[in-house]
Amino acid sequence: TQFSDLGLSQPVLQALDLQGYKEPTPIQAQAIPPVLEGRDLLGIAQTGTGKTAAFMLPSIDRLRDADNQTPFKSCRMLVLAPTRELAGQIAQSAKDYGALAGLKVQSIVGGTSVNKDRNKLHRGTDILVATPGRLLDLIDQRAFTLDAVEILVLDEADQMLDLGFIHALRKINDLTPKDRQTLFFSATMPKQIKELVSQYCRNPVQVSV
Ligand code: AMP
Repeated sequence: TQFSDLGLSQPVLQALDLQGYKEPTPIQAQAIPPVLEGRDLLGIAQTGTGKTAAFMLPSIDRLRDADNQTPFKSCRMLVLAPTRELAGQIAQSAKDYGALAGLKVQSIVGGTSVNKDRNKLHRGTDILVATPGRLLDLIDQRAFTLDAVEILVLDEADQMLDLGFIHALRKINDLTPKDRQTLFFSATMPKQIKELVSQYCRNPVQVSV
């Protein structure tokens, strides 16, 4: 399989070329076509499998296709990650892949100034990468809403549960529009994760690598 067989746009294919990616990894080959069609996805995959590009590339094309304005105090795509480190890496990937699409990327994580985050998000963003706790703080302060979310990604959901984010995840699910697309990633599938999947996803395509 080649990236050009998966239905991605020319600008995204060019960004991949600049990254030096020659071929899709297995999770990319399996996940990209259904995500481009708008399906929900359950990806059972570890870090290092190329899962970030598997959700980021088709999402960038869906955002480009819908061509909505950057929403005030909200975002079009929300990526939740368990740690600052991972959130930073995902935001950097989004910038690398999204450069040609002109999409604005921001990240907010705990341990930094909340006031800076408030200012940063005031004008809204296209893609937001966040840890659940800091995101809820900003929502509680009415500095941010999830009203405009078109695509919601949970990355390393099992790690987020282990870190005690279950309450935050339920609340975020309740505050996000019901008709959004959800891409759910976890390395393991214990019972609590299965329950979370059934709350978050509608008839997801399941990909396991
Ligand atoms: P991830 O599993 O998303 O953390 O990605 C692991 C590493 O693989 C990252 O450094 C990516 O830049 C790299 N990568 C992802 N997809 C590809 C690909 N198709 N070809 C080459 N490298 C890739």
